Amino acid sequence: MSCYVCRNNDQFDQLPPRERIAADTYWRVAHAFNSTLPGWLVLVPRRHVTTVAGLTDDEAATLGTWQVRLSRALHEATGCVKTYVIQFAEQEGFGHVHFHVVPRMADIPDDLRGPKVFGYLARPPASGIDERQRDDLAAALQARLGQARP
Ligand SMILES: [Zn+2]
Repeated sequence: MSCYVCRNNDQFDQLPPRERIAADTYWRVAHAFNSTLPGWLVLVPRRHVTTVAGLTDDEAATLGTWQVRLSRALHEATGCVKTYVIQFAEQEGFGHVHFHVVPRMADIPDDLRGPKVFGYLARPPASGIDERQRDDLAAALQARLGQARP
């Protein structure tokens, strides 16, 4: 399988904190691996699905709760003034449904506001924030969300 999300879902128990900040039966929360903005989260279904319409009723039942809980945790952990919640799943190899939950900071530059927030995602050869910082953020968020559960 060439799906990045499924490869990580398949090794759930071995994932570092930044890749399983929280989880339930249907969803897993990770820090975006290529974000240069601390706190950029990704909410992913734990099975392969490529459309929002393809989510089951059980997956849908907790989706909104996750989006709100993650937003509240980001307000507390990052001091953001609101969150952006975005779903495209268009990039090659990333067709697995994933909801970006992005802290919108008070001092966001105009050229990164709204849809332009994707400017925070690094393109090779640049890289995102380092693994340790993502793990530290994961710990801060876990303290607000409860531990990741399979
Ligand atoms: Zn997948």
